[in-house]
Amino acid sequence: MQVFKFGGASVKNAESIKNVASIIAHYKKNELLVVVSAIGKTTDKLEKLTKEYFQGSAHALTWLEEIKQDHQYILTELFADPSHPIYDDIANSFVEIEWILEEEPQDTYNYLFDQIVSLGEILSSKILAAYTNQTGLSTSWIDARDYIFTDNNYGEAKVDWHKTETKIRQDLPIILNDFVIITQGFIGSTSENFTTTLGREGSDYSAAIFASCLQVDNVTIWKDVPGVLNADPKWFDRTELIPELSYTDAIELTYYGATVIHPKTIKPLQNSKISLNVRSFINPAENGTVIRTTNSGLAIPSFIFKINQVLINIQPRDFSFIVEDNLSHIFNAFHSHRIKINMMHNSAISFSVSVDDTGENITALLEELEKRYTVNLEKGLELITIRYFNQETIDRVLVNKFIIRELKDSYTCQLLVKNM
Ligand code: ASP
Ligand code: MG
Repeated sequence: MQVFKFGGASVKNAESIKNVASIIAHYKKNELLVVVSAIGKTTDKLEKLTKEYFQGSAHALTWLEEIKQDHQYILTELFADPSHPIYDDIANSFVEIEWILEEEPQDTYNYLFDQIVSLGEILSSKILAAYTNQTGLSTSWIDARDYIFTDNNYGEAKVDWHKTETKIRQDLPIILNDFVIITQGFIGSTSENFTTTLGREGSDYSAAIFASCLQVDNVTIWKDVPGVLNADPKWFDRTELIPELSYTDAIELTYYGATVIHPKTIKPLQNSKISLNVRSFINPAENGTVIRTTNSGLAIPSFIFKINQVLINIQPRDFSFIVEDNLSHIFNAFHSHRIKINMMHNSAISFSVSVDDTGENITALLEELEKRYTVNLEKGLELITIRYFNQETIDRVLVNKFIIRELKDSYTCQLLVKNM
């Protein structure tokens, strides 16, 4: 049994969807469950729609129109018969969102976000299921919200593993005997049946949830890159493919910001010793990267770049030491404003962190911290993390940059830098 995950780029238009269908047909061995993300940039558009709606702007409807057209265009390319039931099915899915948009927003933003933005995955999975069926594959569409149960922390819901596992094990193996299952990434539901999302880019994590509950042999994430590279080609011209990676290295890389796999994905797979392949949907015959238990620790230095960093330096106003009491207050403030710390450093009387410069929530965080601390900000920085560093790799990234903060342990070096 295995799980495939296809991201938004792999289903961005009719041609890509055909390619995905052919990969499913060609590379499926035994039972297969397929997790798919929303088509192309649909999630971003739905997020913009939600923001406009929440602010009471009529512009929300323009976004809805655009998303409808994107999907309609793909439908007409894939389904020649205008009476194919998929046309009604997709239209009905849109109606559910139109009902929400007709009313004034009453609920919290995060709740509305989940109810609206989840539409993207519903649409893409329905289209992929109908198309694969049309090509002769026996596929069965299932609603992930009937299987992945979460708490009601909308926008970043936590999985209720026990309930999820029980339901998945009870129902899905029987279906998988006869059908390829096609389902959605990113979404789940609360015990009251409200839709939740698992955090942006969370479809990889959904694949890991299904995989670990079903105890499959392996998961394949199909991407537009050849596998896990030692740096993002956006920042580096000489990137190398890492053919084999340990779970620990994969966790470390994603923790420090490598975007190739969602950070929450690896742990459930590691716990169940399920190997994770990262392969190219453009060149599906290539092997890509396999992540599994390995001692071969092929230590290719990896580089992770995060731009647009802000260094926040925090000092107690009364010059008291930075101890447990302050730290717990500071961490709580970061947590409640949903700000993720990328690097931290403390001395006796100051605590400093580097975070993504996300604007509004940083301003809100500062207001809160300034009640107890003197806070200084330095913007426009870049955070470079090197796994398996040596002096040569450090020199290589420091060209025309100087170091503001530096942290090293045996394997990993983090450099917060500024352009000269
Ligand atoms: N469509 C969702 C997003 O873009 C989930 C995913 O792509 O993994 O955040
Ligand atoms: Mg996506």
